[in-house]
Amino acid sequence: MHLLNADLHCHSTASDGSLAPADLAERARDGGVQLWSLTDHDDVAGQPAARAAAEALGLAYVSGVEISVSFAGETVHVLGFGFDPDDPALRAGLAGLRAGRIERARQMGESLARVGIRGAYEGALALAPNPEAVSRTHFARFLVDSGHCSSVHEVFSRYLKEGKPGFVPHRWAGLGEALRWVRGAGGVAVIAHPARYRFSPTEEFALFSEFQAHGGIGVEVTCGSHFPDEVARYADMALEFGLLASRGSDFHAPGESRTPLGALPDLPGRVTPLWTLWADTLAGRRAPRAGEPGPAPAALRALAAAAAS
Ligand code: AMP
Ligand code: MN
Ligand code: MN
Ligand code: MN
Repeated sequence: MHLLNADLHCHSTASDGSLAPADLAERARDGGVQLWSLTDHDDVAGQPAARAAAEALGLAYVSGVEISVSFAGETVHVLGFGFDPDDPALRAGLAGLRAGRIERARQMGESLARVGIRGAYEGALALAPNPEAVSRTHFARFLVDSGHCSSVHEVFSRYLKEGKPGFVPHRWAGLGEALRWVRGAGGVAVIAHPARYRFSPTEEFALFSEFQAHGGIGVEVTCGSHFPDEVARYADMALEFGLLASRGSDFHAPGESRTPLGALPDLPGRVTPLWTLWADTLAGRRAPRAGEPGPAPAALRALAAAAAS
C-alpha cells in the first residue's frame, strides 16, 4: 500500500522522453501518483507545461531537473527539485550543458560512420524534438528504427556504452557547479540512481561525501533501475549519511521503460522521504516558493498517515 505515491523522476520530449509533459501528467494521474516531478536531462523547458497539466488534474507538482555531472571519470546524474525554473544562473548553466550535447552528437555521428553506420547524427537529431537536448537515447532509437539493432538496450550494449564505437567521452558539469545552480535557484539536490555508477567503494564514498559537502541532501533509493537488494543498500546509505530518500520511475517512453509512472514499491520504512520537506506547503501552512508544491489535501493526508505509522 502506498503511503504517499510520489514519482519524482521522468522524461518528456524536452529531453529524451517520447511524450509531452501533459501526456506524462495524465499517465501519472492514471498511475495513482499524488506528488509528481518532471526531471528532464539538463533542461527546464517542460516545467511550465508539466506544472499546469499536473495541477489541472489535481496532482501536487514539484519542479525538477536531472543534471549531467562528471565525477571521478564517470557520468553521475544529480536531480534538482523545488527550484525556481526561471532562475537565470540555473538556466545559463543548463544552456551551457546543452550546447555541449550538439557537438558531442556530431562526434558520435562521425565515430558511428567509421563502423559503417551512416546518417546517425542527422537521424538522431530528427528524432529529438528539442535538438539541443539530443542524447544517446535518440541515437539508440535511430539505430533501432533503421534496422541496425532490435532494441534500444542492444544499441547501448553494442555501440553507446563506454568503450563501444559510438561512445564519445564528454565533460559535463562539475559536482559543485550543479549543486550551486540548484541551490542558488532555491532547490534541493539528490543523487540519482546510485547503483548505476561503476564506482569502487572508495569512489562512491567520495561521491556521497563531496555531494553532501556541497549541500546535497538526498539520494534516490527506490527507482526504475534499482534491484531490491540495491534499494536496501541505498536505504542504508541514506541513513548512514543522514540523507533524505527519493523515489522515481525514470519513465522515458511506453515500450522502452519497464516501470510505469507511480508503479514502484514504497520507500523502505526506515528512511525519511524527501517530500517531508514540503509538508508545510502541501498543508497550506506556508506559501510555496517558486517550484515548490502547493496545497494538496489528498497528498498531505497520505503524508500525515505515513508520519504517524
Ligand atoms: P546521454 O545523457 O546523452 O549520455 O544519454 C544518457 C541516457 O541514455 C540515459 O538518461 C538513459 O535514458 C539512456 N541510457 C543509458 N544507458 C542505457 C541502457 N543501457 N539502456 C537504455 N538506455 C540507456
Ligand atoms: Mn534519459
Ligand atoms: Mn539518469
Ligand atoms: Mn532519468
